[in-house]
Amino acid sequence: MDTRMLQLLVCPICKGPLEHWRDSQELACKADRLAFPVHDGIPVMLESEARAFDPDHPHGHEDGAAALAAVAAAVDAVAASGTAPEAASPPAPSAGA
Ligand SMILES: [Zn+2]
Repeated sequence: MDTRMLQLLVCPICKGPLEHWRDSQELACKADRLAFPVHDGIPVMLESEARAFDPDHPHGHEDGAAALAAVAAAVDAVAASGTAPEAASPPAPSAGA
C-alpha cells in the first residue's frame, strides 16, 4: 500500500489529518474518534462505515464497545416501547350481575 497516498487523505468530517493503523488496517481521526476501514488497500472514507473508538484504548476492546452499543440500543428500544403492558389491558368488568 502506498503510504504517501494515505498521508494525503484527510478526515471527511473535520478535514484533519488521519493516522494510519497498519495493524487494524484503519485510518483514524483522533479529533472525531473515528476509524475508517481500509479494504484491500482502498480507504473507505465514509462516516457510515467508520468505527468509533475509545482514544484511551484505540486498538482494543472493539468487541466490548460494540456489545455496549448493542446493550444501549436494546435499552433504548425497551424504553421507547414502554415497559408496562398491563396499563393497556381493558378495565375489569364492573359488577352488574
Ligand atoms: Zn475528523
